[in-house]
Amino acid sequence: MTELEKIAAYMDENGIAYERNVPGAELTTFRTGGPVALVAKPLYWGQALALHNAAKELGAKSFVIGNGSNLLIPDRGLDCLFIKLGGEFNEFFMEGSTLICGAGASMAAAAKYSVAKGFMGLEWAAGIPGTVGGAVAMNAGAYGGEIKQVLKEVVAINECGLVHCKVDPGLLSYRKSAYSYPDMTLLEARFELLPDDGGAKERMEDYSARRRDKQPLNYPSAGSTFKRPEGFFAGKLIEDAGLKGFCVGGACVSEKHAGFIINRGGATSSDILALIDHVRRTVFEKYGVMLEPEVKILKESGTDD
Ligand SMILES: Cc1cc2nc3c(=O)[nH]c(=O)nc-3n(C[C@H](O)[C@H](O)[C@H](O)COP(=O)(O)OP(=O)(O)OC[C@H]3O[C@@H](n4cnc5c(N)ncnc54)[C@H](O)[C@@H]3O)c2cc1C
Repeated sequence: MTELEKIAAYMDENGIAYERNVPGAELTTFRTGGPVALVAKPLYWGQALALHNAAKELGAKSFVIGNGSNLLIPDRGLDCLFIKLGGEFNEFFMEGSTLICGAGASMAAAAKYSVAKGFMGLEWAAGIPGTVGGAVAMNAGAYGGEIKQVLKEVVAINECGLVHCKVDPGLLSYRKSAYSYPDMTLLEARFELLPDDGGAKERMEDYSARRRDKQPLNYPSAGSTFKRPEGFFAGKLIEDAGLKGFCVGGACVSEKHAGFIINRGGATSSDILALIDHVRRTVFEKYGVMLEPEVKILKESGTDD
């Protein structure tokens, strides 16, 4: 029996919901990629911890996924276990000025809720199409805001088991966080917010309008494909290199925002990878700047390293 069959048998015995051969198109906002062998959906803390321990003990390759809004799955698919938190991990509520979120909750919904409850600090996050876990793991940010400014505590599984950590902001930087898989499987995040200064709703609406205006939200994508290089803007470099609208198969550099690679219809992950490669080479040749992908490109091993 393979390690994956062993973990499937474990999930059968322990009532942990899972699906087999889930297409990458159903797991990522790029809507590409081959099947992932097993996708488990633990519904509560006990299940997540038990699954983590069993996967480790049985030697099953695993990867924690949120909404797949910053991921590329290879066309051949992945022979591994994806863990996608469900059930009580989707919940969030305010306790005083603290927003307490399950890591599987929608970051945008939690941010909008906090504003509706009279708090500010997460207005910028109302347009992030990922989970709270994914936002913490990526130190997501926009319009001058970022997760590290408001994140105070996390509950996670690490090699010691279940841990409750006070957050050290020094461990989060631009699109990078020590509070992320594989070091940690985040289960809960706590954000410390401030009372609304009266402008939170307006700011949130303004940011959303700016997104609608500037971003190709009607096409599948993973948002900004590349990190912002020191001293430049990736979108501007790509546009200046004449790559707006350049396509490989169904993958294109957006006409609306050159920082976005979009799936114009029928793209494969290989198309997207080839386009990423072409953009990087062209921008480097013209401007000497090597763009680094922000999107996590998963390998056959089920990791992004
Ligand atoms: C239209 C669009 C607009 C976007 N705009 C922005 C933006 O303005 N700013 C920005 O920063 N990003 C933006 N993004 C990118 C993306 O939404 C963010 O990076 C988001 O935070 C990823 O969350 P996710 O749940 O989809 O994570 P996934 O893509 O599923 O995973 C990303 C990483 O997080 C890790 N991870 C996920 N959940 C957990 C967990 N529970 N525990 C540990 N690690 C975990 C994964 O292992 C992976 O390494 C945009 C994307 C799109 C499609």
